[in-house]
Amino acid sequence: MKLTILGSGTAIVTARRGSSGSLIKIDDKTLLLDGGSGTMRKIAEASSSFKEIDYAIYTHFHPDHVTDLISLLFALRIPSNHKSKDLTVIGPTGMKKFHRELAKVFDDYIDPRGYELTIKELSGGYLDFGNFKLTSSLINHHEGSLAYRVETKDGKTIVYSGDTDYCENIVDLARDVDVLLLECSYPKHIKVDGHLNSTLAGKVARESNCKKLILTHFYPICDDYDILGECREEFSGEIVIAEDLMTIDV
Ligand SMILES: [Zn+2]
Ligand SMILES: [Zn+2]
Repeated sequence: MKLTILGSGTAIVTARRGSSGSLIKIDDKTLLLDGGSGTMRKIAEASSSFKEIDYAIYTHFHPDHVTDLISLLFALRIPSNHKSKDLTVIGPTGMKKFHRELAKVFDDYIDPRGYELTIKELSGGYLDFGNFKLTSSLINHHEGSLAYRVETKDGKTIVYSGDTDYCENIVDLARDVDVLLLECSYPKHIKVDGHLNSTLAGKVARESNCKKLILTHFYPICDDYDILGECREEFSGEIVIAEDLMTIDV
């Protein structure tokens, strides 16, 4: 399994950090995890193609996580870009309504053409796609927000938190995981409801006993602080500061 960070930032995009998004490759399957503004460009920069995406998986409906779904669906309609693979869009409760409303706003210009589009809603529980299992868990951010655990047939695991505050569900979902891709919105002296800061992210990592912690979703202020050092106060395992276009083999 290969993880590529597309965007390690938030709604406040900087030259260094784009909005949230990651790609996971498992065998011949490609998963997109979130896709805020700029994600389509980052997929190209990562030498991948949006046409390869089999599963577009969203944690919640905040714009920095979901807006490039519009760009993805529009690009897939353009005849020269016709997709040979079908696309499954997965998200929290409300995903179908979200897509329906978008389709209305864009006057059907994001409707599938030349491929099958399936939309699935989750509110916990898991789906088995053969190449991998996807477990979802409600976390403490916005109503219905999900974190996901991806597990391959040979037992390799990644958990992606999306946006979350400290909660038992994220610790439980990430129990003994190989890679925990965890939001870290702020340095330790700032605490905003619905988000983690560096030390709380370390606490989640320690309590979950993850093997490797990758911190992401940094507001620009994070780049002025020693986020890794602050997180280390709580977690003694391997910590990686995500950067756009970084790849990790799992
Ligand atoms: Zn966010
Ligand atoms: Zn959010």
